[in-house]
Order: sequence, then structure tokens, then C-alpha cells
Amino acid sequence: MDDKDLFTKILGIRLPWFIKQVVVNDSEQRVDIFVNHEPGIRVRCPDCNEFYGLYDHAPERVYRHLDTCQMKTYIHVRPPRVNCPKHGVKHIDSQFGENDSDMTFAFESLVIRVAQECNIEATSRLCDVSWDRSWNALDRAVRRGQARKVHRVPGRIGVDEKSIAKGHKYESLVYDIDAATVEFVCDDRSQESLEAYYRQFTYEELFEVKAVAMDMWDPYIAATKAYVPGADKKIVFDRFHVMRHVLDAVDKVRKNEHRDLYELGKDILKGTKYLWLWSNENIPDNRRQEFDSLKAKDLKVCRAWAIKENIRHMWDYRYETNMRKYFKRWYFWASHCRLEPMKKAAKTLKEHIDNIVTFAIHRITNALAEGINTKIEKIKRMACGFRNRNHYRTAIYFHCGGLDLFPRPPIQQSLKFKWA
Ligand SMILES: [Zn+2]
Repeated sequence: MDDKDLFTKILGIRLPWFIKQVVVNDSEQRVDIFVNHEPGIRVRCPDCNEFYGLYDHAPERVYRHLDTCQMKTYIHVRPPRVNCPKHGVKHIDSQFGENDSDMTFAFESLVIRVAQECNIEATSRLCDVSWDRSWNALDRAVRRGQARKVHRVPGRIGVDEKSIAKGHKYESLVYDIDAATVEFVCDDRSQESLEAYYRQFTYEELFEVKAVAMDMWDPYIAATKAYVPGADKKIVFDRFHVMRHVLDAVDKVRKNEHRDLYELGKDILKGTKYLWLWSNENIPDNRRQEFDSLKAKDLKVCRAWAIKENIRHMWDYRYETNMRKYFKRWYFWASHCRLEPMKKAAKTLKEHIDNIVTFAIHRITNALAEGINTKIEKIKRMACGFRNRNHYRTAIYFHCGGLDLFPRPPIQQSLKFKWA
């Protein structure tokens, strides 16, 4: 078996294609394989699948292929073109790699698999391709995946905001809660951005949306009410976002009290921030005693803490009416507690209560997408290598979009013999 036979076999080259030449370059450690086709062929029009005579050849394409042992391997081919009476002069669907790619299907799939496991710099190093080429492969993978994606609106949607870097711009992410995928990334957290997502769907499609989990954020609410029929009963304010308002209030009470005590020369609240924020059952054993002794003192933050711990139980109820009853009692307590931050948080909750208690029906939170959050945190840590915001967005779709990313060769042969 000579080198041409060997590569014909391992590359699965079939007539009318054949290998014309194999050049092994020792000094550059590379193999170049030149592929040609027999004369007397007919060429498939990629639009109508009809075969016509050969028209001419496109300029040579060079595809990077999987290495041959330690040697970088390239396939050279001049793809024939067809002149279809209906569709004009057309490039064939290449058997070797996608037409706008410089990698074979197999090599491009390898780059994608590596990129799924590590960041873009590591991908370029491991695959020995430039940063730009690796990035292009990711970008093509996302575009390919999005083109293949079935057009459907998720039954249960989550809308969440993410800041790219600390204190920086926000992105809004739209999740499919059940599939645990990111469906859409918007540029900011405006009403218009979220509306751009909804606008992809018809009224009838959006009618099928069962529930939307989100933060108590007016632009999200307005966008959802404008587009999703029956949004009043479908919006569920995410319980963790709701709790964040209460937790922030507890923290403010602690800070104010700490400042007042400190002026009197007492620093008993020093280093206690998280004791008041952690859920009671999550307080570490080694700090339990310290916490119990603090609770025995007559502290404002202790009252705020009790109010906070109490509201958590509202979400245990299975019926909306019971949640409302529970909230009413809690609200009376919180609004009479004489702790301004707590009163303010209680008021915010009251204003939004109609879509907090919808939890009883839909039982969704954005935490269902927790797996995604972990991935996004990972992407954020890689973000310094992204160079711009578009790349960040592409990375989110790549890692969290649930897309079919891999390139596939055409199912049908693009060439056949004239007499076949
Ligand atoms: Zn045609």
C-alpha cells in the first residue's frame, strides 16, 4: 500500500474523487494531500439537487485536517462549480469541510470539542491553531446551531440580569427553564431588549407561555405584559431576587446599628455581617454559639433578622390564598417594626405581591437554571480573553445554548460519473 492508497483509505475518499499526490515535508513536519476528481463528471446543484455538467473550478481551498501522527495535515482541493439553468453558477457542498471554513469537518469538530472543555487560549494551544481561527470555529458553531434550532417558545421562561464585570454593564439572559438553556442574550436590561426576544414569536405562540420567572424589575415586567398574553397570571417574581431585597434591608440595619454602637465604643457587631444574612440552618457550627449570644442581646439587627427568617416560610405554602394570608400577617409585623430599611423592603414586596404569590401555581425560580449560572460564572472568568462583548455573547450561546454545534458533511455526494 503506498501513501496515496493509505490516505484514500483513512480519509474515506471515494470515486470520482481520488488522491493525486501526497507531500510529506520533514522539516516543516506537515503533510499536504492533494485531491482531484476524474474527468467526465456531473456536478450536483446544491439548491435543486439536479446534476449538470462541470462548469469550472473555484480557486484551490486548503483545509486543515486532523494531524497525521505528529504532523499537521492539510487537504488541498479545487471544488468544481456547476451552472444550473435555474440557480446559476454554484459552488458545490464540499465533502471535505464547510465552504466558509478552512478546517475539515473532523478537525473543526475537534476544535469545538476542545473548546467545550477549556477556554479559547487553551483551545488554540491544544489544537495548534491561531486565536482567530479558534474563535471563528466557535462563531461558526453558534451560527450553525442557531440556524438548526427549532423555532419554539419555551413553556417556562426565566429572565435574569448578569453583569459582565463588577460594577459594569448588564446583560439580560432569557432561559428555557425546563431545558436549562440560554435562549437569548440582550445587550442591557431595558424593556426594548427583552421585547426583541418576544418579537420573534407570534401572539399565538406567546399565548402558550405558561410562566415567566424574573426580578422585580419594571422594564422586564412592562415588556412581558406588552407581549405575553395573560402575563398578569404568568409572571413570577423570582423568590431569590425577592429575598435579596429583604437581605439588603437586614444588612442596612446591621450597618447603621454597628455605626451607632461603635460611636459608643462597642464593636460587638464587627465581623457579623453574614451571620445575619445566612439562612438560620446554614450558620456554621463554629459560629453558632457566638450567634446565639448575639441574639440574646436586645439588638435591632436581631429583630430585622427574625423578620427576614420569617418571610422565607411564605414560599412553603402550596396555595395562593395561604401565601397571601401569611404575607398579610408578616407585612403587619414588618411595617410596624420601626426599622426603616425593613419597612421599605416590606413595602416593595407588598407592591409586587400579586406576582410573588403566583409562585404557588407555577413553582418556578431562576435557580432552576442554577447549572447555567455556574457555567456563566465560568465564562465570566474567561471573559478577559474575549476581547469584546460580542465574543462574550457568542461564548454564552456556545456553552449554554443547548445548540447542535457540530458541522456535518453533506449527506449526498456532490459529484458523480457522467455515465452513472
Ligand atoms: Zn439548481
